[in-house]
Amino acid sequence: MTDDTQASRRRKRRDKRIQNSRRQCHCCFQTFMFCWRCRCGFAICQACMHENAWGMTCNGITWTCPDCGAQNGYGNQ
Ligand SMILES: [Zn+2]
Ligand SMILES: [Zn+2]
Repeated sequence: MTDDTQASRRRKRRDKRIQNSRRQCHCCFQTFMFCWRCRCGFAICQACMHENAWGMTCNGITWTCPDCGAQNGYGNQ
């Protein structure tokens, strides 16, 4: 297929842009459209947040950044 190289080249360029708008989870290192983020730059995806909720939050309203220890709101992002 001749379209294949063109498509992959185009996809490569688009990937770069997607990477900019997406967040990389600091836990599983995958990129997501949405991540919980801390002001220090730490980001965690919903799946990892859910998995680590027992260690990240004690009240379900705020979560503690494991990097800098800042409290971040759960609901308003
Ligand atoms: Zn993750
Ligand atoms: Zn932080």
